[in-house]
Amino acid sequence: MATIIDGKQVAAEVKARVAKEAQRLGDELGITPGLAVIIVGNDPASKIYVSNKKKACDEVGFYSEVIRKPEKTTQRELLEIIDTLNKRIDIDGILVQLPLPKHISEKAVISAISPKKDVDAFSPFNVGKVMIGESVFLPCTPAGVMELIKSTGVELSGKNCVVIGRSNIVGKPTALLLLQQNATVTICHSKTQNLAEVCSKADVLVSAVGKPNFVTADMVKEGAVVIDVGINHNEDGKLCGDVKFDEVEPKAGFITPVPGGVGPMTIAMLMENTLKATILKEKSSAKKAAKKQ
Ligand code: NDP
Repeated sequence: MATIIDGKQVAAEVKARVAKEAQRLGDELGITPGLAVIIVGNDPASKIYVSNKKKACDEVGFYSEVIRKPEKTTQRELLEIIDTLNKRIDIDGILVQLPLPKHISEKAVISAISPKKDVDAFSPFNVGKVMIGESVFLPCTPAGVMELIKSTGVELSGKNCVVIGRSNIVGKPTALLLLQQNATVTICHSKTQNLAEVCSKADVLVSAVGKPNFVTADMVKEGAVVIDVGINHNEDGKLCGDVKFDEVEPKAGFITPVPGGVGPMTIAMLMENTLKATILKEKSSAKKAAKKQ
């Protein structure tokens, strides 16, 4: 029987830490971290994600602003909004909810966010920083995965870790963060041969595929840490991950449920990044003020 990793609990601990620090910033410096979230169009899942982000901001005592734009918004209009937010002193973090409508280039929009306010860490600058191990912000979902692994107490150094999925927002950065902890990392994808065999050697298996029941018991090593990033719906329309939970759970050492695993962590890490952006802004303005004296 595996120990269930309680993502809600770990996320609550991260948010409590953030809330405490935000309170201190308010008391000592009179500043409140501010997050702006832009949503374009009517994607129902995006609407839920955005409202959860707003709720989290309220919980930790941040100022938040949701900018809702219609589907027909042009790229130029969106870039102008980002330009204004980049200049606003009360906004420390900017997040553009993806996906964007087809006529807007996600690359252009993400690149327009000031790296200092890119709390999703999707911009080429911050991706590069993660790559060379000098990150300012860690991408939220991979950072959440790392927190969950840390919560198990399992030491990563020298362990075999397998990440299934190689997307820029989940698979690749997760693999990099595991590598930075001295794990031996294998990244699998749709062209990987003998996937089950490769996965079955993993001490830590992270699945970020997006297919229900994809990870079965034969792919899991006895006692492994299994982290399920997938957010899917099964044939009954119920939320589920990539892992066939009922058959994998008895074999794993630790396992995340869906819902209640990685999902809550993504938002908690977004709060942490926004706080970090506020602190960095304060440090930089204090430095500038000291130089002027
Ligand atoms: P992508 O669709 O961008 O990537 C999926 C990856 O899975 C690809 O690298 C693909 O390989 C790989 N894959 C697909 N089929 C197979 C297969 N048969 N064997 C091996 N690998 C396969 O998805 P994302 O990375 O954006 O998201 C992955 C999942 O995580 C989704 O369910 C998403 O909803 C969820 N998610 C959850 C978050 C959370 O907060 N919990 C946040 C972000 C995402 P290839 O590159 O070869 O095509």
